[in-house]
Amino acid sequence: MKVVILLGPPGSGKGTVAERLRGDKGGYVHFATGDMLREEVSNSTAVGQEAEGFMKRGELVPDEVIIRIVETRLEAGDPTAAYLFDGFPRTLVQADLLDESLAGRGAKIDYVFFLATPRDVILQRLTGRRVCKACGASFHVTNIPPAVEGVCDACGGELYQRKDDNEETIANRLEVYNRQTESLISRYEEKGLLVSLDSDQGVASLMAEIDAKLQSGVDA
Ligand SMILES: [Zn+2]
Repeated sequence: MKVVILLGPPGSGKGTVAERLRGDKGGYVHFATGDMLREEVSNSTAVGQEAEGFMKRGELVPDEVIIRIVETRLEAGDPTAAYLFDGFPRTLVQADLLDESLAGRGAKIDYVFFLATPRDVILQRLTGRRVCKACGASFHVTNIPPAVEGVCDACGGELYQRKDDNEETIANRLEVYNRQTESLISRYEEKGLLVSLDSDQGVASLMAEIDAKLQSGVDA
């Protein structure tokens, strides 16, 4: 089993990297905690129902519940597959639980990729983002402009700016993210697993750097 963790603040391009690594393109099974939670809830599994209880009360889903969802997936998955964790672990407790769970399977984390992104780049990326109301496709007023302003290239739907893509909300999201992630980053740095990448270098060269690391084998 190969295990790679992807860390990065909102606007770091994490979604783009995950997209390139998963499925037939990159061969990685993509585990995004948010998606997994939603699936368990909508399939009404035991752990999904438990998670839903917390969500309905407006509480954070506890680390133990999150790790059980991850375990269920690992259990059902191919033990020789390569896994990409995205948005997980989020806390040191989750990181401990993940280490334990992997150790129980004779596996361990191979790399933790951190997409380091300057604050002004994040602001520029997020405030310029426009999303299609109909299909959810993402554009950017200057970086990825649609052919016709305000209109989705893919489906002709109307583009809008998400409410939380304004400067003040972004600043808050970043603060929360940094506070949450600081200790995770030092943990993985101390273990020699952290690979810090400059996310502002263009997708092609960023992916080349990631691929080179992944192909160099488990040497960390
Ligand atoms: Zn669209």
